[in-house]
Amino acid sequence: MMADINELKRICSQVRRDIVRMVHGAASGHPGGSLGCVEYFVALYFHVLKHNPNAFSMEGKNEDLFFLSNGHISPVWYSVLARSGYFSVDELATFRKLNSRLQGHPTTHEGLPGVRVASGSLGQGLSVAIGAALGKKLDGDNSLVYTLHGDGELQEGQIWEAAMYAAAHKVDNLISAVDYNGRQIDGDVDQVLSLGDLKGKFEAFGWTTLKCNGNNIEELLKCLDEAKSLTGKGKPVMILMVTEMGQGVDYMMGTHKWHGVAPNDEQLEKALDQLEETLGDY
Ligand SMILES: [Mg+2]
Repeated sequence: MMADINELKRICSQVRRDIVRMVHGAASGHPGGSLGCVEYFVALYFHVLKHNPNAFSMEGKNEDLFFLSNGHISPVWYSVLARSGYFSVDELATFRKLNSRLQGHPTTHEGLPGVRVASGSLGQGLSVAIGAALGKKLDGDNSLVYTLHGDGELQEGQIWEAAMYAAAHKVDNLISAVDYNGRQIDGDVDQVLSLGDLKGKFEAFGWTTLKCNGNNIEELLKCLDEAKSLTGKGKPVMILMVTEMGQGVDYMMGTHKWHGVAPNDEQLEKALDQLEETLGDY
C-alpha cells in the first residue's frame, strides 16, 4: 500500500495542534519530544502497523505491537491513537485530568485502548518489547514489535542489558527507534552524558542499525520499509531517527527548554498560528 504523503502530512499538522492544546489545557506535560516524534507516530499508525484500532486487545495476537518506552511523550501517542480510531478524539480534552484515562504517563489500569504497558520510568520499554517479541515467536505469530525510546533514555543501564539480550537471542521480529534529538530534560545529551558513537555501539551489540531524518515523512517511510525488510534475518533492528525537539513550533525548536513545559495562552496562540487545522480540533 502506498501512503498518501499529503494526507499523512495533513494528519501531522493536526496532531501537532492536538499536542500543544492538550499540554496547554492541562498546564503541564511534555510538548518538545511529542512534537519531534509526530511523523514517526503518524507513519506507524496510519501506514506501517498491522493493527485493529476498533477491536483492541491487550494480547494483540496477529497484530504488530508498539511500546512507548519514553512514556512522557504521551501527548503525541494519545493524539495518534485517537485520530486512528482507538478512542474518541473528544477524550483528548481530559489529558492529565483527575480520573482521566489519559494520564501524564501512560498506564494500563484505566483501560485506554492502545496502551499495553505503563511507561515513563525510563529504560524499561525495550525489555518489555523483547518479552512480547519472544512471545510472538512462541505463538507462531509472525507479526512485528516496535518500540520508541528517547536518546537521553539510552543513558539507562537496562537499555544495554536488553540490547545485549535481544542480539544474543536473535530477536529479529523487533524494530526499535530512538528519538535522536540530541536533547534531554536538563540540556544537550552530549553535555549531560554523551552517547558517543551510537550507531557503532548498537552495531557492536549485534543490531542492524539504520539512520534517517525522522521529521521528513518520505525519508522516514522509506527507512521503516527498509527496517521491515531487515526483520527475520537473525538480528534486531534499530532506527536512529534524527529529529528536532519542538518541531513545527518555531519558538520551541533549537532548545531543550520545552521538554516538559506547557505553553501559556499567548504562546498557545502563537503555536496554533503555525499549525494548520486539517481534521478539526477536538
Ligand atoms: Mg532526547
